[in-house]
Amino acid sequence: MTDQSAATDLAASPGIPEVMRAAVLFGPGDIRVVDRPVPRPGPDEVLVKVAMCGMCGTDLKIFDGHFPLTPPFGDYTPGHEWTGTVAALGGRVDEFAVADRVCIEAHSGCGRCDNCLAGKYTACLNYGNRAKGHRATGMTADGGFAGYVVHDVGSLYALPATLSFEDAVLITTAGTGLYGLDVAGGYIAGLDVVVFGPGPVGLMTVQACQALGAGQVILVGTRPSRLDLGRRLGADHVINAREADPVPAILGLTGGAGADMAIECSGALEAPQQCAEVTKRGGKIVIVAFYPGPVTLDLSAIVRSDISIHTSRGEGGNNVKRAVALAARGRLRGAELVTHHFPLEEIGTALRVVREREGDPVKVVVQP
Ligand SMILES: [Zn+2]
Ligand SMILES: [Zn+2]
Repeated sequence: MTDQSAATDLAASPGIPEVMRAAVLFGPGDIRVVDRPVPRPGPDEVLVKVAMCGMCGTDLKIFDGHFPLTPPFGDYTPGHEWTGTVAALGGRVDEFAVADRVCIEAHSGCGRCDNCLAGKYTACLNYGNRAKGHRATGMTADGGFAGYVVHDVGSLYALPATLSFEDAVLITTAGTGLYGLDVAGGYIAGLDVVVFGPGPVGLMTVQACQALGAGQVILVGTRPSRLDLGRRLGADHVINAREADPVPAILGLTGGAGADMAIECSGALEAPQQCAEVTKRGGKIVIVAFYPGPVTLDLSAIVRSDISIHTSRGEGGNNVKRAVALAARGRLRGAELVTHHFPLEEIGTALRVVREREGDPVKVVVQP
């Protein structure tokens, strides 16, 4: 929780400027890079010098003004997939040292509600309530499209020396897929898994499924370049849904019974129903995507087949820690997904590239 009265005096921290450049959202579609004071960490917070910040579909919703609980226009910096170097420590922080390289999870729960007490901090009952200690960087609090950002110490992870900042951006993303697997039971060794959507979440989830010993890992998408990348990253089979109906193709690969688990990472309106049609009796569907509107789903067929549906939001359950461990062992390759780098001053161009898919981006990062 930010406690200004006890905020760290940065005058004692040489090398940290008073002012930084930061992308501020002034209104729907109106993002400008302006001068902002460098924030001061509270007692349990860390000031991080941002190395880079990834951009995703959530940022497009935030940029358009369609995301709930964001701070007021004119006083808010988005960016929730950032990584960097520790610049200063709050007074009660001894877990890190200045110059440590760190990666993040976006959510810090309040620590006092029923869900936080049960470890479900991405479902914090005080979501968006800064006064009660909740923070979702770049969503309900200032994020990483800036020179510096403060973050709760409990949501930071040391970045192993073998990993690059590009890897670190995708570690946050990998945490989303791992959390989905976690809430669905986690133990997938030997299970046939279908991943819908070869975006960054899906591509990291494919790797996680391989690392955790899945049987066949089948990836479904529509863009050949992303499917090729998925194959290089460990998918056993890739299916282009524009060329072949994925349902019979997956049934064919699984002896007609269907997959043990379907993981929906695409956000396409038709994908949940396809998940239902390719999951075997007694299997599981895991949904980690967001949709542009209500989804049509044959729930009776799902009930008849004893299929369980699990959903999860973001990278909770301490799964970023698990992602760091897998990445350190070479089991999660993040940097290969980073296709575009832009300086912070060109964040408008970066947003356009993500929205228009100019140059077939997978992960776009912005660097202050
Ligand atoms: Zn994101
Ligand atoms: Zn809470």
